Amino acid sequence: MARLVLKFGGTSVGDIARIQNVARHVKREVDAGHHVAVVVSAMAGKTNELVGWCRDASPIHDAREYDAVVASGEQVTAGLLAITLQKMGINARSWQGWQIPIRTDGAHGAARIQEIDASEIVRRFEAEEQVAVIAGFQGIAPDNRIATLGRGGSDTSAVAVAAAIAADRCDIYTDVDGVYTTDPRIEPKARRMARISFEEMLEMASLGAKVLQVRSVELAMVHKVRTFVRSSFEDPDAPGMGDFDNPPGTLICDEDEIVEQQVVTGIAYSRDEAQISLRRVEDRPGVAAAIFGPLADAGVNVDMIVQNISESGDATDMTFTVPAGDLSKATAILEKAKAEMRYDALQSESGLTKVSVIGIGMRSHTGVAATAFKALAGRGINIKAITTSEIKISILIDGDYTELAVRALHGVYGLDKV
Ligand code: ADP
Ligand code: ASP
Ligand code: MG
Repeated sequence: MARLVLKFGGTSVGDIARIQNVARHVKREVDAGHHVAVVVSAMAGKTNELVGWCRDASPIHDAREYDAVVASGEQVTAGLLAITLQKMGINARSWQGWQIPIRTDGAHGAARIQEIDASEIVRRFEAEEQVAVIAGFQGIAPDNRIATLGRGGSDTSAVAVAAAIAADRCDIYTDVDGVYTTDPRIEPKARRMARISFEEMLEMASLGAKVLQVRSVELAMVHKVRTFVRSSFEDPDAPGMGDFDNPPGTLICDEDEIVEQQVVTGIAYSRDEAQISLRRVEDRPGVAAAIFGPLADAGVNVDMIVQNISESGDATDMTFTVPAGDLSKATAILEKAKAEMRYDALQSESGLTKVSVIGIGMRSHTGVAATAFKALAGRGINIKAITTSEIKISILIDGDYTELAVRALHGVYGLDKV
């Protein structure tokens, strides 16, 4: 007998028929004798609707009330799934974050889980074979109010619960049947990977592959949670679906569990990036701190930073990216502090995309970046900025070329070939 966590995303619980299908996945594992905790998302589109309502009520609003509103989507699905399971004769009950409790920090809207007391859930596993249906995306903050974990946060709820109950496996069920070499919606030739290392998955997720929330991958890595990404749309009773060691899907695992390591494993992209350039910034010590300090204080996430060396030696150009949603906030801060920051002009551009090439094999191979640049040049795509790390190259381009760039990079490293 094992302990399992099964997480179902928004599309997988999009209507009652789909919730019934989810219940069949749960039943399969219960019938096999396993103890099961299920983590559910809000029904597809629900969270966006709730976020929209908060904005309509007031563009600037209390983050604690935002959490009270947006956490409700998951509460509905947890109750509906518990009802459906009960109807099938399975002992089940729903749990909201505060009832368990799942304790978070106080960062309403983007809280981090700090502690989960899973003892009552485990007691009910043992005493009455009860399935725990847990509302994802939410917990309780130190101020005793509901907190949400940031968009996509149900993945993190699932992995955290898996760590807390020492689960043998955490299955993330979604609308694709695994992690692909790139987003299959953009490149139909993308291939499903049998395995991907924690490090690579972390980069893929941080660089835009939204199949897993970044924090969930971090937690899986730290707590060594055996995590699979798999499809909820397959027939729950098809052969192999209940395979304990090798369920269909992609395993996120340690690097040394991967036998044949490719140089490049995947391509990720993130749309809605914006670029800001400050022209003729005074070239003196402390200038970067003067610019980026106030942006950080305002919670603006600055990403790619390029500083040119000036010809004259007394002034330089500073260019960096921010999420498009933060552009007006960032420019307002920079314009207000123009005198202290000492620059001549501010230019900005939105509608950009960051495409990234990811692979652990880059550590020991040269020429990976040059290949990317050549592939983009061959399609006439202009590069606006580049950043690299040990296992990734990120390139900023015009958003109109997103699909073209992703497919070009996917092809040039042979990711479409078996
Ligand atoms: P859920 O609602 O189940 O949490 P998400 O929409 O958050 O699902 O994540 C699944 C989506 O992630 C897929 O439909 C797919 O379009 C997208 N995606 C992006 N990159 C990848 C990738 N490399 N592999 C698989 N899916 C990806
Ligand atoms: N419902 C939340 C969202 O849409 C959390 C999740 O689905 O993971 O972001
Ligand atoms: Mg998701």
